[in-house]
Amino acid sequence: ALSIGIVGLPNVGKSTLFTALTKKGGLAANYPFATIDPNVGIVDVPDERIDELAKMVNPEKLVPATVEFVDIAGLVKGANAGEGLGNQFLANIRNCDAICEVVRFFKDPDVIHVDGRVDPTADADTIQTELILADLGSLERSIPKLEKEAKRDKDQKPRLDIAKRLQDWLNEGNRAATLDMTDDERAAAHDLFLLTMKPILYVANCDEDQLHDEPVIDGQKAIPICAEVEAELSELDAEEAAEYLESLGLEHSGLETLARAAYRLLGLQSFFTAGPKEVRAWTVRIGAKAPEAAGVIHSDFERGFIKAETIGYDDYVTLGGEQGAREAGRLRMEGKDYVVQDGDVMVFRFNV
Ligand code: GDP
Repeated sequence: ALSIGIVGLPNVGKSTLFTALTKKGGLAANYPFATIDPNVGIVDVPDERIDELAKMVNPEKLVPATVEFVDIAGLVKGANAGEGLGNQFLANIRNCDAICEVVRFFKDPDVIHVDGRVDPTADADTIQTELILADLGSLERSIPKLEKEAKRDKDQKPRLDIAKRLQDWLNEGNRAATLDMTDDERAAAHDLFLLTMKPILYVANCDEDQLHDEPVIDGQKAIPICAEVEAELSELDAEEAAEYLESLGLEHSGLETLARAAYRLLGLQSFFTAGPKEVRAWTVRIGAKAPEAAGVIHSDFERGFIKAETIGYDDYVTLGGEQGAREAGRLRMEGKDYVVQDGDVMVFRFNV
C-alpha cells in the first residue's frame, strides 16, 4: 500500500490524529493485521464508484484502495545536531512514499506549544530545517564514496555532480525536490535517499471553527483537520459519524480527505476489477500502461500480459455492467501500449 509518514513538532496533535486512524472506525476493514504494528494505520480511500459498481454485480465484498500511515515520532528542534536523528527514525521516514506534516493551528492555551507560540509557518520551517540538515548529513557521507567511484569510472561522474549540486541547494535552505533536474538527474538523486526529495503534504490541525478556512503553508495548500474531532469520529458507528460530520458541515472525515489528497499529491489513480466475488479498487500511477496495471494485481499478470478487456467507468455504469457494455460495443480489447484511465474496469488476459 501507499505509505505516508506522519511527522511534526511535539504537541501538535500527531498522536491524537494517529490514534483516530488506528481506531476501529478509521481502520480499513480488510487489513486486520494493521493493528499488530502500533505505529501503522491503514485507511480506506473513499470512492463512491465502488458502490456504484457493486450495484451492477452484487459482489460478496467491496475492497477499496488503501493508504498506510506511519507514525514517525522523534522530530524536534536540534534533533539533527545533539543526539542526532535516530537511525530508526531515519529508516522509518526513508521507507515512506510521502511525508505528511502535522502543523498546529488550534489555539487552545491549555496545550503548551514547544516554542511558546502558535506560528504554523515557523513550525514548518523548523521541521524543514531538521530534514534539510539530516539530508546534508547523508550527503556528507555519500559524496566521498561517489568521488571514489567517479575516479574509477567516468560514467559515475553525473551521480557525483548531482549530489554536489544538491548539497549547494540544500545549504541555501532549499528542499531537494525543488531543484531543477533532468529526468536522469532526478533518477540519480532518488538513489541518494534524501528525505526532502519526498512529496510533502501539510495537515493543519485546526480548532473546529477553523475547519472551513483555507490554510496555506510554504505557498502550499494545507488540509484542515481537527484531530480531536477525528478522535471522536473514530469512536462512533457509521450512522452517528455521518450525523456528526453533517453537523460540522463536512462531507468526509478529515482522514478520508487526507487519504485522497495523498493520492492526488502522488499522481495516483484507481482502476477497478468487478466480479461476483469482489469489486475492488487498485492503485496505479497516472500515465501507467495496461501491463503495469496488471502487475499491481500480480507480477504474473504483467509478465504474461496479452491484453486487457477494458470498459470505461461511465460506460460500465450507464450500460448496466459488462454484458451491456459488450452488447453496445463498448468493451475494448486494449494492448500493452494502452494508457490506463481513471476508473477503467479491467479484466486481464495473460499467459502463465
Ligand atoms: P503530539 O505530541 O504531536 O503527538 O500531540 P498529541 O496528539 O499528544 O496532542 C498534544 C495535546 O494537544 C493533547 O493534550 C491533545 O489533547 C491536544 N490536541 C490535539 N489535537 C487537538 C485539537 O485539534 N484541538 C485542541 N484543542 N487540542 C488538541
